[in-house]
Amino acid sequence: MLSHEDSYKNKGARKKLVELLAKRGINDKGVLNAILKIQRHFFFDKTFEGHAYEDKAFPIGEGQTISQPYTVAYQTQILHVQKADKVLEIGTGSGYQTCILAEMGANVYSIERHETLSKKAQVMLNHFGYKAHLLCGDGTKGWPDEAPFDKIMVTAGAPVVPKQLAAQLAIGGIMVIPVGDEKVQQMLTIVRKSEKSFEKIVMDNFKFVPLIGENGWK
Ligand code: SAM
Repeated sequence: MLSHEDSYKNKGARKKLVELLAKRGINDKGVLNAILKIQRHFFFDKTFEGHAYEDKAFPIGEGQTISQPYTVAYQTQILHVQKADKVLEIGTGSGYQTCILAEMGANVYSIERHETLSKKAQVMLNHFGYKAHLLCGDGTKGWPDEAPFDKIMVTAGAPVVPKQLAAQLAIGGIMVIPVGDEKVQQMLTIVRKSEKSFEKIVMDNFKFVPLIGENGWK
């Protein structure tokens, strides 16, 4: 049971955050409505919940972070999430992004390498009443038994686009993935045009925690 409450102050701060994201160019109504609905402060220790509606990443344990709201909105908007889309998320972390995707009606499969985080994320999903499929393991290999996916979102910085993930994208599917070195990553949108061809669109620069695994950083 979570001891957090959704006060008028929290609701007001969430509304202000959504207004800020809209000003920064997020115009997908589904994304903005999901951010307005999901109580981000529930993902914070009560001591720090006052920081939940700042547009910043925040530590969640295991040296990992809950992504900055703008980054969550930016990646989600790129995916053009439709109801019943089968979405693979790599890097469950706190489960906040998983909840945003589930709220938008996606059928979410999410992989996290830290068991403690995966378990906490499950508690959050249960709390909000979302049914996503969580797996603890190396997301750089994807989830072959459940492929193909309409959308794939990677929420940690990769050295390259893992071939195994591209192969699990449905034809017509979209992947969003930050790729670069340890200091800075370019957001890439990858669209699968056919069995063998992919279109790559280079977007803005971001800074993520590293994607660690067989097809990521060692
Ligand atoms: N989406 C998350 C949220 O809303 O809280 C933010 C995730 S955090 C920026 C990135 C996560 O990716 C971390 O929890 C990290 O442990 C995880 N990660 C890194 N490499 C991974 C891998 N190979 N497989 C699965 N998860 C991985």
